[in-house]
Amino acid sequence: MLRDSVAVITGSTSGIGLGIAETFAAAGCRIVLNGIATPAEADALLQRLRQQYGVQIFFHPADLADPNQCAALIVDAETHFGSVDILVNNAGIQYVAPTESFPVDQWDAILAINLSAAFHTIRAALPGMQRRKQGRILNIASVHGLVASIHKAAYVAAKHGVIGLTKVVALENASNGITCNAICPGWVLTALVQKQIDARATQNQISAEEASHEILAEKQPSGRFTSVEDVAALALFLCSESCSNITGASFPVDGGWTAQ
Ligand code: NAD
Repeated sequence: MLRDSVAVITGSTSGIGLGIAETFAAAGCRIVLNGIATPAEADALLQRLRQQYGVQIFFHPADLADPNQCAALIVDAETHFGSVDILVNNAGIQYVAPTESFPVDQWDAILAINLSAAFHTIRAALPGMQRRKQGRILNIASVHGLVASIHKAAYVAAKHGVIGLTKVVALENASNGITCNAICPGWVLTALVQKQIDARATQNQISAEEASHEILAEKQPSGRFTSVEDVAALALFLCSESCSNITGASFPVDGGWTAQ
C-alpha cells in the first residue's frame, strides 16, 4: 500500500515531521513537504531528499495558522499527485507561561496551528479518501494530549483537542477504509524542546546538558529522549495494511511518562 502512496506531512522542514517525511520517502511514498522555510532552504531540502530517496517530492509553503492555506495544501497536493493517501498533521509550536499571564496572541497561535490546522486539513482530505475508500490520517499529538504540565495551558488544551478530533474522525470513517490515530511523544530532542532546555539552563544558571537531565528526570522515567526515528517508525507502521483495523487510538512513545 505504501509504495507510490502520496503522503502530506505538515511541519516537515525540521524535527519529527522531517523524520517522518524521510522514513516515508525511504518506503517509496511520494511526499508533500510543508513548513516555515525560505525558498532557498526549501530548495536545498528538496534537492537532498530527492537525491537520497529517488522519490517525487514537492514543497508547499502553506502557513497553517490560516484555514484557507490549510485547505490549499490538500487541494494542491491532490492536483499535483492525483490523491492524498496519507495525511500526517505534525506542525506545532510551543509557548510556556503561567495561565494568568499567558499571552493571548500565543494562545490563539497555538490553538490555530496545533489544533485547528488538523481540523482544516482533515476536512479537506476526507472527501477524496472517502471516494477512494482508503486513507490514513495520523495526528502527532503529545503526552500533553493525555496528561498536563504546568505553564502549558494552550499546548495541553490543543493536544487534548487533537485526541478528541482523532476519535471523532475515526468513528465517522470506521467503515470507509480510513483510519485516524494519534501518536503521543514524550520528550524528543528537536528545536521545539531545545528552546525549553535553553530557557531552563538560563533560568537556573546551569548547563544545557544539566537542564536536559533535569527535564528527563522530572517526567520521562527511561531517562532518555525518544528519537525522531522511533516516532517515524511508528507512524510508518500505523500506515501499513496490517493496521487497517486500528483506529481512534492514541499511542504514547514516552519512555513511561504517562504510565506514572
Ligand atoms: P520543530 O520545531 O522541530 O518542528 C515544527 C515544524 O512545524 C517545523 O517544520 C515548522 O516549520 C512547522 N511549523 C510551525 N509553524 C508553522 C505554521 N504556521 N505553518 C506551517 N508549518 C509550521 O518541532 P518538533 O518537536 O519536531 O514538533 C513536531 C510536532 O511534534 C509538534 O506538533 C509537537 O507539538 C509534537 N511533539 C513534539 C515533542 C518533542 O518533544 N519534540 C513531544 C510531543 C509532541
